Amino acid sequence: MKRKLPAIALLLCMSLCLYACDDEEYYDASSCEEGSYEDDFCEEGSYEDGSYEDDPYGYPSDDPYSYYSDGGNYEAFDAKDYPFDTSLGSAKELDGKIAVISMFVNDQTTSWDFDNETDQSLSELAFNNLKIASEYLEDTCKEYGRDVDLIYDWYEIPELAYELTVDTDYRTVDSGNQIDDVMSQSIQSEIPTESILEKVGASQVIYMAYFNTPVTNMITSCTHSYYKGKSYPYEICYMFMCCDNVKEAPAPFAHEMLHTFGAPDLYTVDEDGDWGINQEYVDYAEKTGLNDIMRICDPGNGVYDYNKIHNEITDITAYYVGLTDHSDTVDEWGFLPSEHVGQN
Ligand SMILES: [Zn+2]
Repeated sequence: MKRKLPAIALLLCMSLCLYACDDEEYYDASSCEEGSYEDDFCEEGSYEDGSYEDDPYGYPSDDPYSYYSDGGNYEAFDAKDYPFDTSLGSAKELDGKIAVISMFVNDQTTSWDFDNETDQSLSELAFNNLKIASEYLEDTCKEYGRDVDLIYDWYEIPELAYELTVDTDYRTVDSGNQIDDVMSQSIQSEIPTESILEKVGASQVIYMAYFNTPVTNMITSCTHSYYKGKSYPYEICYMFMCCDNVKEAPAPFAHEMLHTFGAPDLYTVDEDGDWGINQEYVDYAEKTGLNDIMRICDPGNGVYDYNKIHNEITDITAYYVGLTDHSDTVDEWGFLPSEHVGQN
């Protein structure tokens, strides 16, 4: 099931969010400076109240890690089924025009109700986060000599936003690939990627999936990016808009988007061995306070800033997303080569 977000409702939402006092915390920098941390707490949304009472960690009642062990069905589609070059997934190089398609996802336990003011305001926060993250990435890439144009504005181009209803559970995102099977099939059948790319003049695309997660959710946002053929070429950032009772912020948006271009996490060991990030390096980066956005997403005080991203793309991340062809850090630590080596 799909429904293009009604432009009129969104415009109404936008004007409400811009002018109504209730929602000013997203836009008013002073509210963060005043330390109004409570503003960032999640509000009761349209999900069913009480359904998570027995489950403080937000997982399904069964062991979440035993949920889907059948792996993904990555070869379900041929490369020719995709309207983009699949060699590095749907998002390949941080260069030129890149479409960002937003999907407000209703799954088995969460849903969006755009008649509900809280949900409207949360969808507006998603837009604001995406805007700040996109501008941050464009500005930072400029420092590396790249002219990046992330085309995300669904007010300007309504074809960039959808509501999708899928038969999966966001809480299985870390346990197997069933969610990717379902999401990829849904994208393939419901989202006219080819015509969107044609319309905006882009040849790459990032898919942002927003879930209206409950206050009890403890599962953090994550990205299933295409890496060495081990997943679908559709690169999906799974954004859980409430986690640990805190609303999602611009820096995690930029962090997840960078994953689609090949960036590894720098706060945890690379268990799959794709980059070679080890515990020794993770400890070192923490001890030295490395302010790389792939390691940290707040200004250093543990509190999100909803108006600005304070973190950097340091040499290691720049190398792994293909902005540079060399990283002293990678050389010094003996990490694996970037997926961009040998491309182009
Ligand atoms: Zn990450």
